[in-house]
Amino acid sequence: MSRAVGTYPSRAVVDLDAVAHNLRVLRGRAPHSLQMAVVKAGAYGHGQLPVALTALAAGADWLGVAQVEEALELRAALDAHGVPRDSAPILAWIAPSGQDWARAVEADIDLSVSWTWTLAEIAAAARSLGHPARIHVKVDTGMSRAGSTPEDLPALAAAVRTAVDGGQVELVGAWSHLSRADDPSPEGLASTAEHVAIFESGLEVLARAGLHPSIRHLSATAGALWHPEAHYDMVRIGIGMYGLSPDPEVEGSAELGLRPAMRLEAPLTSVKVVAADRPVSYGGTWRTPTRRWMGLVPLGYADGILRAASNAGPVTVLADGGPIATHVVGRVCMDQFVIDLGPARDDQASAAEDAPARVGDTAVLFGDPARDRVPSADQWARVCGTINYEIVSRLGERVPRVHIHEGGNTAGGEGRE
Ligand SMILES: *Cc1c(COP(=O)(O)O)cnc(C)c1O
Repeated sequence: MSRAVGTYPSRAVVDLDAVAHNLRVLRGRAPHSLQMAVVKAGAYGHGQLPVALTALAAGADWLGVAQVEEALELRAALDAHGVPRDSAPILAWIAPSGQDWARAVEADIDLSVSWTWTLAEIAAAARSLGHPARIHVKVDTGMSRAGSTPEDLPALAAAVRTAVDGGQVELVGAWSHLSRADDPSPEGLASTAEHVAIFESGLEVLARAGLHPSIRHLSATAGALWHPEAHYDMVRIGIGMYGLSPDPEVEGSAELGLRPAMRLEAPLTSVKVVAADRPVSYGGTWRTPTRRWMGLVPLGYADGILRAASNAGPVTVLADGGPIATHVVGRVCMDQFVIDLGPARDDQASAAEDAPARVGDTAVLFGDPARDRVPSADQWARVCGTINYEIVSRLGERVPRVHIHEGGNTAGGEGRE
């Protein structure tokens, strides 16, 4: 979807210098490991290609995505930008049966293998191309999601050995994922220790089959931050690159030295006075406690503003008289929501010169509170009963992403994805 800046009222401003800064900070936390920049789901809503190019320029060694389709799209875009494939290895880890593996192998996409049937499909594609597929064997270390269980792994290792000997695959990596790396409780720490132990025995199973993957990787951002013992040869950095903490209760962005890269904002489309005791939005779940100034923000649940933010989501309006910190009142609608701009005097009417804010003033839903005194994605997550990952990654496709550098200049061309 392509939408010119200026024709859609809201926008997500993504500071690519913050992305680069965050990767440097995280490099310092895992200095001896390769760094994979995870750009799945449109770079968590931040725009896949601009973030991937920024990450590579900032020194990221690998790119990671979930779906093979995402990897193919990314490879095509990087090729078009003249990025050499060997300086931008891509791993895709979702492996559905019947995937067009040949296209993936031709695009030099590394693939994750958890099951012998996946390996058989990939090896068949590689045989027909006459070109080995690059794979990372995934061990199930305690998520019970993808990955080969300790019981299944010996058979998978034997099959990988055969495919390596036959020239159909090259074993690049062995990997897994931690389920409680953000949990500092004794149970959380024991869980991570158990993941590491199962991973280690998985590596031994592979070694007994004569398989010695050069890149062992177990940690996402939380592991990179809080579990040096799980860094291995590479860490996979997602949420931290976007300047958000995997768990703000453990340590927040500012404490970690991370800068939230996305600012979500929209101009007020209405500022008016509503009489006391009037219902606001669907269901009338909020009533004006007094005669009130109400603002209207053109973002709704179709844009990814969760309806759970009704009567709660924090918003700061950048008004001439200074920032107004307020929140959503009434229910979030599909395309818009109402905010409270404070009490109106009896002599004030909607068009008053001394209105607290004006049509066109910018309402910021979230950004970097340490820099701009605006709400955070973490606050939105809290009021919505979810995590910051969901707040940014569910941002709707119709919201334009505007990529800037620190100084505020738009990056390359229109600065648009
Ligand atoms: C999404 C994902 C990551 C990145 O996780 P963050 O917590 O965002 O750093 C890493 N590895 C896998 C397998 C993932 O699915």
